[in-house]
Amino acid sequence: MRQVPLDFGKGAALLGDEERAAVDRVMRSRSLFRYYGPDLQGTVAAFEAGVRAQLGVGYAVAVSSGTAALRCALAALGIGPGARVVVPAFTFIATVNAVVAAGATPVFAEVDDTLSVDPGSIPAGADTIIAVHIENVVGDMDALLAAAGATPVVEDAAQAFGATYRGRAAGAIGALGCFSLQLEKNITAGEGGVVTTGDERLYLRASRYQDQGGQFVTSYASSRGEELTEPFAAENLRMGEVAGAIAGVQLGRLPSILGALRASKRRILDGVGTIDGLTPRRVPDAGGDGGSSCMWFLPDQAAAKRFGKGLVARGVPCAQMYRGEPVYWNPAVLARRTATGTGDWVAEKGLCPRTEALVARNVIVPIGVRYTPDDCDEIAGAIRAVAAEVL
Ligand SMILES: *Cc1c(COP(=O)(O)O)cnc(C)c1O
Repeated sequence: MRQVPLDFGKGAALLGDEERAAVDRVMRSRSLFRYYGPDLQGTVAAFEAGVRAQLGVGYAVAVSSGTAALRCALAALGIGPGARVVVPAFTFIATVNAVVAAGATPVFAEVDDTLSVDPGSIPAGADTIIAVHIENVVGDMDALLAAAGATPVVEDAAQAFGATYRGRAAGAIGALGCFSLQLEKNITAGEGGVVTTGDERLYLRASRYQDQGGQFVTSYASSRGEELTEPFAAENLRMGEVAGAIAGVQLGRLPSILGALRASKRRILDGVGTIDGLTPRRVPDAGGDGGSSCMWFLPDQAAAKRFGKGLVARGVPCAQMYRGEPVYWNPAVLARRTATGTGDWVAEKGLCPRTEALVARNVIVPIGVRYTPDDCDEIAGAIRAVAAEVL
């Protein structure tokens, strides 16, 4: 048993002097709002420029959270009441919440052994499909885009900042990408998010949506941008300059964060080797995996729970991601309760039987940016020992 618990933080584990200095510069400027101030530092705008450069994407809009990013992406596409939005059955509740907040109808779809939405199980007649890159792994996006045809795909890349798929950045593959800067994501400002797109019109609509429909973003190039999109009423989901300052420093750390996570993941997987009954999650492009965790499927849920307990007893963090449950088992989603009444979506246990059977058997071992090679060897050894006991 370890004496010091493993810290599986990513960007949060590196918050330090550079972030503090960047925040201090904003404080001293007394310009905390992104669009004006006595001595505007432009941290949010600089963060957006950094995102465009790092992800190789045409446009980026920083916002207040990953959920806000999803709201902006759906609004940019004109998704609202009456629209049907495909949501993978295995995801964080925010993916569902963003659709419900838009007044649209989530339609749950099966995931495959990549834990991403199964391109072969997309329901007909959807207005938009959300693909979620669980734990820094992009699923079979080429197959999904082919299955989607003309239906736009929004990437919920909240858990995949910097991950890639066949040379393309997560968030730069579908019509729009959505990222989160919440504390447990790859990089963090405590809260925050960003929407990316290669489409000028979608960019302008997302920009408008986070800014009350265009209080400050209506000055666009040399015009108000109205030739690209009619102004519309919206809400305030803006990022402030303090968050922008932290986000900018963290973005600079992203390559080294991903390098460390990927090296640790390789070392753990190599150390574990092949074990009967321990089936790794499928990763379509292993080179692009952001490396934030190792995930396996055990033969059944009881074995998965015993495996997790065994590792935790040895001081290795391990759990069933999302308790081994599909997102529509969330009590509010199952009861179809919204803030204003009863939703019109379909949710019941057994809805996506392949997903339910698969995710019940999942285990996740998180990887922190500060893991040392010795930590990785210890983790791999513990996994081998526990597998020998449990399987
Ligand atoms: C974290 C997360 C979000 C939401 O991000 P917030 O910044 O917390 O609003 C959305 N989708 C997924 C898959 C996430 O993991």
